[in-house]
Amino acid sequence: MKLAMIGFGQAGGKIVDKFLEYDQRTGSEIVRAAVAVNTAKADLMGLEHIPQDQRVLIGQSRVKGHGVGADNELGAEVAEEDIGEVQGAIDGIPVHEVDAFLIVAGLGGGTGSGGAPVLAKHLKRIYTEPVYGLGILPGSDEGGIYTLNAARSFQTLVNEVDNLLVFDNDAWRQTGESVQSGYDEINEEIVKRFGILFGAGEVREGQEVAESVVDSSEIINTLSGGGVSTVGYARESVERKQESGGLLSRFTGSDESIEDQLDSANTTNRITSLVRKAALGRLTLPCEIDGTERALLVMAGPSAYLNRKGIERGRKWLEEQTGSMEVRGGDYPLNSSDFVASAILLSGVTNVPRIKELQQVAIEAQDNINEIREESESNLQNLVEDDEDELESLF
Ligand code: GDP
Repeated sequence: MKLAMIGFGQAGGKIVDKFLEYDQRTGSEIVRAAVAVNTAKADLMGLEHIPQDQRVLIGQSRVKGHGVGADNELGAEVAEEDIGEVQGAIDGIPVHEVDAFLIVAGLGGGTGSGGAPVLAKHLKRIYTEPVYGLGILPGSDEGGIYTLNAARSFQTLVNEVDNLLVFDNDAWRQTGESVQSGYDEINEEIVKRFGILFGAGEVREGQEVAESVVDSSEIINTLSGGGVSTVGYARESVERKQESGGLLSRFTGSDESIEDQLDSANTTNRITSLVRKAALGRLTLPCEIDGTERALLVMAGPSAYLNRKGIERGRKWLEEQTGSMEVRGGDYPLNSSDFVASAILLSGVTNVPRIKELQQVAIEAQDNINEIREESESNLQNLVEDDEDELESLF
């Protein structure tokens, strides 16, 4: 499907930039338009793929291009004040050609954390297209203020978007790596997973269109109903086969040779095993999949390696695991790829211990900050004034 992506803040901008690079590399054509919004000039200058005229610096009169310093209340205020400038960039997007908006932001900082919910509310008021969020949760080692920012932004953003897709940095943290190279790898993982998912709904010219191909309406329907979503992914390398072999095994039906039948059993088994790996492996937001409201299974790869039986079995298995009867499935033919991948969108997840933990730590951080603020004045008074009050201020 075609998206208008808006990266808010540093993480948001970098990830949208990466989506553009992915689009150019794979020809997936999911980014119809890309905009970056920030209060920090340097962050906007660091982007590589987003066009210069689609980079919007907000809050100049308040923070002079230096960012909001992880203050997400200020981030929200500045976004509200300068929403006209963001709209100016969006006015340049042919919105009739996009299927949805996707606002991407790190929820632990200031600009994206505060600005993303403001922008979501604004877009929902103006456009009929769905507005989705891709929210990045901070690592638990980032500290209390980031956790508090994320918990407050998460709560606000869920209510403003049509669906909040979540990626948890904490679950993907690599030990012993520099923060930057760690983020590079994490950002690759993000665009790979969401790229396959959103790419599935985009039929390209010259692409074989089978009946079972996922359509963007299936992605939209899986996301509609709102709430929080997570994505599972698994892939396996395969040798490239002749395209005609794929077509042959699809259409030969009962006249299949033994060789073809074995092949088809292998294909089916590979698909079902990839579905299990994707659902039971690391999700973008780790959670219990039982209780998921809706799901979508996308099988990507050369057509010769995709079959309806495998996808149907995988879909049924997902129905059992999630307890939901609203599980869609289909394929995403990628005839020049050397892998078969399974991407699973679990939409409307509710049993997410990580969110509860985040909220708990956020409340502790909030209490601590309030306590220190309350005592701050009297502590300072005690420090600066002499015990017997013998000294006098100058004025
Ligand atoms: P902002 O510019 O004020 O919105 O804040 P940042 O985007 O710099 O940081 C917000 C949060 O996003 C941080 O606390 C990190 O958890 C996360 N973050 C920052 N940069 C990246 C990145 O490149 N990739 C990912 N996945 N997360 C990032």
